[in-house]
Amino acid sequence: MIRKIVILGAPGSGKGTQAKKLQKEFGWNHISTGDILRSEIEKKSDVGAKVEQFVNEGKLVPDDIIIELIKKRLSGNKAQTGFILDGFPRNVVQAEKLNRILDNLKINLDAVLLIDVDENEIIKRISKRFVCENCGPVIVDNADDKKCPHCGGKLYRREDDTPKTVKHRLEVFEKQTRSLINYYKGRNLFKSVNGNGSIDEVYERIKAAL
Ligand code: ADP
Repeated sequence: MIRKIVILGAPGSGKGTQAKKLQKEFGWNHISTGDILRSEIEKKSDVGAKVEQFVNEGKLVPDDIIIELIKKRLSGNKAQTGFILDGFPRNVVQAEKLNRILDNLKINLDAVLLIDVDENEIIKRISKRFVCENCGPVIVDNADDKKCPHCGGKLYRREDDTPKTVKHRLEVFEKQTRSLINYYKGRNLFKSVNGNGSIDEVYERIKAAL
């Protein structure tokens, strides 16, 4: 069974949601650079202070910072039981750095998986995306009362889910991550799945592709 994968997709494509499902079913370690950065910001660590403005404005944080964080997560034998890299790499420089890190650890990637979603669908999804104080990320059709439909908990917006920042994140994706997709397309590890549809539909497609 495939165990070491990179998951690629635009903001709002469902990378994090699908990676969490894979982690739950197969026990692979979900490594999300977005989650790591948000937790550093929340902890008010030195790294958090360095990256906060980039993240909140929807810009890529400097490569050297993100590469150090990834190295730490993959070092020792943490990567041996399998992992899903979500949010890294995001440009070709990061991908080449990842190749070197994995070579040093004698690890081969099993797949690079693109979750392909229409841009209109992405904008629609992000506008419904909230964070519940109890359940974490949730999709809410009508958030007028700012309450979670599952538990009644308070709903927040992710700091970088404002319309202006979302637009910027989509531009960054088109400018930097598209060329990364083309870079991986030339290799036989690359797989693409249609990411439109329900969470479960997309999850079944992912498992079939893997
Ligand atoms: P999304 O994929 O929905 O934009 P993420 O949670 O993956 O959300 O990332 C949120 C933010 O974290 C990005 O907009 C960027 O500022 C930062 N970030 C995450 N991964 C990387 C990375 N590999 N390189 C640079 N910045 C990153």
